[in-house]
Amino acid sequence: MTRVLAVTSEIFPLVKTGGLADVTGALPGALAPLDIATTTLVPGYPAVLRALSATQEVMRFDDLFGGPAVVRAGTTGELDVLALDAPHLYTRDGSPYFGPDGNPWSDNDRRFAALGAAGAAVATGQGFDVLHAHDWQAALAVVYLHVHAGARPATLLTIHNLAFQGLFPASLFPQLGLPASLYSVDGLEFWGNVSYLKGGLSFADRLTTVSPTYAREITHPDHGAGLDGVLRRRAADLVGILNGIDEEVWNPADDALIPSPFSAPRLARRAANKAALQARFGLAAESDALLIGIVSRLTEQKGLDLLVDQIAERAASGLQFVILGSGEPAIQRGFTAAAAEYPTRIGCEIGYDEALAHVIQAGSDAILVPSRFEPCGLTQLCALRYGAVPIVGRVGGLVDTVIDANAAALAAGVATGIQFSPVTEAGLQEALDRIVALWQDRPAWTRTQRNALKADVSWRRSAQQYADLYRALEAERA
Ligand code: ADP
Repeated sequence: MTRVLAVTSEIFPLVKTGGLADVTGALPGALAPLDIATTTLVPGYPAVLRALSATQEVMRFDDLFGGPAVVRAGTTGELDVLALDAPHLYTRDGSPYFGPDGNPWSDNDRRFAALGAAGAAVATGQGFDVLHAHDWQAALAVVYLHVHAGARPATLLTIHNLAFQGLFPASLFPQLGLPASLYSVDGLEFWGNVSYLKGGLSFADRLTTVSPTYAREITHPDHGAGLDGVLRRRAADLVGILNGIDEEVWNPADDALIPSPFSAPRLARRAANKAALQARFGLAAESDALLIGIVSRLTEQKGLDLLVDQIAERAASGLQFVILGSGEPAIQRGFTAAAAEYPTRIGCEIGYDEALAHVIQAGSDAILVPSRFEPCGLTQLCALRYGAVPIVGRVGGLVDTVIDANAAALAAGVATGIQFSPVTEAGLQEALDRIVALWQDRPAWTRTQRNALKADVSWRRSAQQYADLYRALEAERA
């Protein structure tokens, strides 16, 4: 049995702002049958402390970055959780990262240094074999273990999105309690600032990211977000392991959130979901109109500004769109205005709605993910599972999970969706032309949809890869 301490700022179902939470929430369950026991340390946000009943105190700090803190062990569902109960840092409503004014909490430097310090202390004090840090918020755990005197567990850092790095002014460094020598170009220093992520990338025994293609892309300047040099240096220790999705949460054959559960042998039942989705958004009840769904953060990363510019023209030519998401005001305004102009062809809901996401996946013919970069992407995995043909940018994990319906793939009968590049307005235009053509070729469409339904989007293969990696790390330190 290998004991892993995962350190993360999000875990589904306790606290989620994106795919990170899905991963940290699903991985422990997928690893358990492989003899890996995972305990997850998360900040004691109000929602986390509320969800954990009958907790036990396992560690106490008199002063953790400005106040006392207690690590409390509890469980929720199948998850073993350690909550870092530090009221001065985490007892506040709202987002884990942003205050009510929409700006990052001004003490995020201390909030996530505390998470790292507590992670390192728990990992050594409680006899874990491996510390697995997720993203910049947990990266300092790796650094504190690097300077720990005496035996320590092996360390692994997973990059879920290199764009988020935890950058703070250099004046913070002395407060971190780390040796001055670490504030250098080979340590945490990044162009005159402190970078938590760079610290983790520099000192973790091994690095992973969430797809093989993204693992390669980030060693190049165009996708390296300034850290490609560090990643090239560590290339031998960096691997990509794809994310999966929870096949019980996302199960079209048994999903209480959708009007008409269906499966590959009962594909005809899917039509009722499309009709319900059209009705839900007030779209024309046309079964043969191609309906494209979007469930996404509305940000430049996701490339949805490209669709804003051409959605009206496509609606006028007969396509239907349903959009669920929130993010940059200009993109939100663009979709809201388009929906007002074409109410029977475009539906738009600004916000975050887990249940509606299921309804859209089940009722859309296709799901559009036009990301400019995408470490793995989960939306297209849900789309495959629900038989909504994914249309994706040819980047990152989208490359590794969708088989483009090019002539060879169609001839071989293996296509599951459409990939396009470059991710530009013209590229998207061409992709939409291709999906319309595929829709009009019903045998090819149905074949693609059925292939999508058969794709393996589970955690099985990836969980085995993480388990092998943990065991290799453990063996190296033995
Ligand atoms: P990222 O983490 O970059 O936002 P991912 O594709 O990795 O993107 O994961 C996003 C997850 O959040 C997916 O499960 C997606 O379905 C979900 N999601 C995104 N936006 C919304 C929304 N507005 N409502 C419901 N679910 C959403």
